[in-house]
Amino acid sequence: MSENFVKLNDRVILAFEDGSNFIVQIQETSFGTHKGVVDLANLIGKPYGSKCESRNGNYFRIMRPRLVDEIFKMNRRTQIVYPKDIGYILLMLDVKEGDTVIDAGVGSGAMCAALARCVGPSGKVFAYEKREDFKTLAESNLSKWGLLQRVTIKLKDIADGFDEVVDAIFLDVPDLWNYVRNCYDALVGSGNLGIVCPTTNQVQMVLEELQKYSFIDLEVWESLFRQYKPVAERLRPFDRMVAHTAFMIFARKASEF
Ligand code: SAH
Repeated sequence: MSENFVKLNDRVILAFEDGSNFIVQIQETSFGTHKGVVDLANLIGKPYGSKCESRNGNYFRIMRPRLVDEIFKMNRRTQIVYPKDIGYILLMLDVKEGDTVIDAGVGSGAMCAALARCVGPSGKVFAYEKREDFKTLAESNLSKWGLLQRVTIKLKDIADGFDEVVDAIFLDVPDLWNYVRNCYDALVGSGNLGIVCPTTNQVQMVLEELQKYSFIDLEVWESLFRQYKPVAERLRPFDRMVAHTAFMIFARKASEF
């Protein structure tokens, strides 16, 4: 990170002392919060991490948004893959700099953004989406995060197959089992398939379908994540937790002979 000062057009987090925070793009405008108005242009040139004041004297820090912050606050109109699952999926799909990956359906673009981040500037994500409104939404989210140039979003039903052969495929649609054959055809030998779905019925149908083709290393997972209140002298979990997000299914392509 060479440049550590806020610049015009940067996306920044305004992190207030009461724990509330806002992601804004630095423009020559002001931004209203319950802690007072913030003059965004005054933040230009300030070092990241520094303490600033709103017009009525409330303090906040300026921080760089992480992708996880963007995902939790993103404009979404579909269910998204949760950050706790995204991390493991990226490792299991072994997504890395220079890889080509398929993401279907793209939905709001949460998983797509994480894939685009991992393939780097020399890699490519081919994302499929059958609804134009979701394609537009995902493009707007990815563009905000500076990742759209690594992604091609196709307005296409994956029932019609995929146009590429790629290193990894991530599948997140309701009737997943209908596309296992198309995934097999679109993967390189040894390529990785990752699937998410909320119900065990879907897992069962996907497993039945995976067994029809030469997929090996089948694994089914769910991840249980419990957050703790970060208070040193009273360290204990939060009272409530997200009990279920999705099951994750992984498989690897072997040749048919
Ligand atoms: N993984 C996404 C969420 C996907 S929601 C995220 O993290 O944001 C599922 C998406 O799949 C929806 O947008 C839906 O329109 C799309 N979809 C469902 N069936 C499809 C199909 N047959 N072909 C292409 N897209 C499909």
